[in-house]
Amino acid sequence: MAEPLGYTEPYLQIYRPVPLAGPGVCRVCHSGPGNGQHLCHSCLLTTEQVTKPTMTVVPISLYRTPGPLWQVLREYKDGPTPARVALTTHIAAVIARFTGTHLRCLQSVLGGAADLVTTVPSTRADARPGAHPLQTAVRSVAGLARLHAPLLTCGPAPAEHGQADDRAFRVTQPVHGARVLVIDDTFTTGARAQSAASALHLTGAAAVAVLTIGRVIWPEWNDNCRRIWDRACESPFTFERCCLCQDR
Ligand SMILES: [Zn+2]
Ligand SMILES: [Zn+2]
Repeated sequence: MAEPLGYTEPYLQIYRPVPLAGPGVCRVCHSGPGNGQHLCHSCLLTTEQVTKPTMTVVPISLYRTPGPLWQVLREYKDGPTPARVALTTHIAAVIARFTGTHLRCLQSVLGGAADLVTTVPSTRADARPGAHPLQTAVRSVAGLARLHAPLLTCGPAPAEHGQADDRAFRVTQPVHGARVLVIDDTFTTGARAQSAASALHLTGAAAVAVLTIGRVIWPEWNDNCRRIWDRACESPFTFERCCLCQDR
């Protein structure tokens, strides 16, 4: 794969920094909760819908729709072939650079080094056959390839927008006692991520954290979302800080 630093540097302007969890920032996904809440509207719903959710979602960037990162995250899956190939390399480079720089941050939330890395399978009926491009991207990252295993397949329940379910995914390989890093491209309501996290926990995973490239944010949703987005647009994105280590 292309060298991550050189490959990601030209794209930095399409990424937006993610704030630390705290007052006015969701403790799970780092979006904006309603006043007086610790969790955003989506996380309040989806963490209640499954038996064992994860309370750790690590977005690399915020994004809004439409927008340049939204476009990348869409077209690496659905764009014309040449664009897909280039954008999958871009996605791989972003994951490589982030996980390389923030390895300790991810270890701190997992309670140690990840034993397994997996991606969330597509739940769309019209998904392309073959390996999901995110799986291709993760497998091309040197530090993650040997840990990657396709642990999840779609289960009997749908993981629809805003509706997480313990049975949305089946765990196909032993995960007992494992610290599992789940990588997904986008986080909207957390239905897919929480369904995956709960399925992994329920089959014995010791810890599950979700790394997502983009957490969508709607500044119009509430005052905290507006404030978070305005700040994200004021301060340039850097790979040197993440939503777990900004005050380091
Ligand atoms: Zn949230
Ligand atoms: Zn960090």
